[in-house]
Amino acid sequence: MDMANTNITQVWRIEALYARLERARELVASGKVYQSPNSDSDRYLVESQTHKGAVYTVTDVCTCNDASIRHELTGLCKHMLARIIYGNQEHEEMS
Ligand SMILES: [Zn+2]
Repeated sequence: MDMANTNITQVWRIEALYARLERARELVASGKVYQSPNSDSDRYLVESQTHKGAVYTVTDVCTCNDASIRHELTGLCKHMLARIIYGNQEHEEMS
């Protein structure tokens, strides 16, 4: 792979992640992210925006198709990003 192709890939990847980041912020803002009630604190539930009634379990991986198919995004689907944003907010509130 030459340099130009590498750069295109990087830009595309950032683009894809940025779109997910925006969706992730929406998920957190609309209260669709919460900690799993009967398990350890590292398990979160994220309601799907696109599939009504679907809930994804997010630990250090997410159970959605995006996370399992889009390996090039290193598991950073919008649910995972939402989990990270949500976790950071909680951390700030506690300190
Ligand atoms: Zn996901």
